[in-house]
Amino acid sequence: MFSKSVSALAAIAFLGVLPGPRQASSQTSQKKPTKNEVAVAHARERVLAILREENGCTAWFREADPDAAGVFESLQIGIAKKKQEFVQRTTNERGEHSYRHPWGGRSNQMAGPGSLVQVNPDGPFFTVTLPVVETRPGGQILFFGGFRILTVGGFPGDSPEAQTTILLHELAHVIGRIPEDDDSWDGRSSRNTDEVLRNCRGEIVETAQRASHASR
Ligand SMILES: [Zn+2]
Repeated sequence: MFSKSVSALAAIAFLGVLPGPRQASSQTSQKKPTKNEVAVAHARERVLAILREENGCTAWFREADPDAAGVFESLQIGIAKKKQEFVQRTTNERGEHSYRHPWGGRSNQMAGPGSLVQVNPDGPFFTVTLPVVETRPGGQILFFGGFRILTVGGFPGDSPEAQTTILLHELAHVIGRIPEDDDSWDGRSSRNTDEVLRNCRGEIVETAQRASHASR
C-alpha cells in the first residue's frame, strides 16, 4: 500500500514514531509503550530475524538491495493517527460486490534507508473485523452491511503473519523490490502482497510460529 498524496504527508505530523536505531540518542520521552507499539516492535523483530538469515526471502530482497536487513533496521515505523475505518463495498448492476479494505501499511516508493513506514491503527495490522458500508461509486454511504474479516494475503488481520507480511511489503516498496500501488479498488496492492508471499511465505509462517513458542 502506497501513497504520496499531500494529505498522507501531512498526516506524518501526527505520527507517534517509535524510536529506531537512528533515533536512539535523541531525547524521546521514556513513556511506557502502548500495546500497538509493542506489537510493532515484535513485528520489527520478526522481519529482522528473517532478513538476517540466509533464505529465499532474503535472497529475493537482496536482488533489489544488497543490505535489505540494514535498510529495514534503519526505517522509522510510525503508527498513523486513529480514525474511523470501514470496509467499503460497491455492488454492480449484476449484483457482484467489490470491496475496498483500509490500508495496512504505507511508505514511499524507493524512499531508502531511514525513511518512514506508517501502519494504520484501524487497518489489518491491528484489526481483524470491521463494519462494512455499502457505498455508491462516488463514495456516498448507503447503508451498513454487516462485518467483514480483514486479511493480508490470506492471513487474518492482527496475526503475527499479517503483521510481518505488511512490514515486508512496505520494505519492498522502500527498496523498489515491488512496484508502486495505492488504495484503489484495482487490487494492485494485493498482487504486490502475493508477490511478497510467493518469496517469503515459508519464512513468515516459520518466524511467527517460533515467536509464539518463545512466548509460551
Ligand atoms: Zn503496497
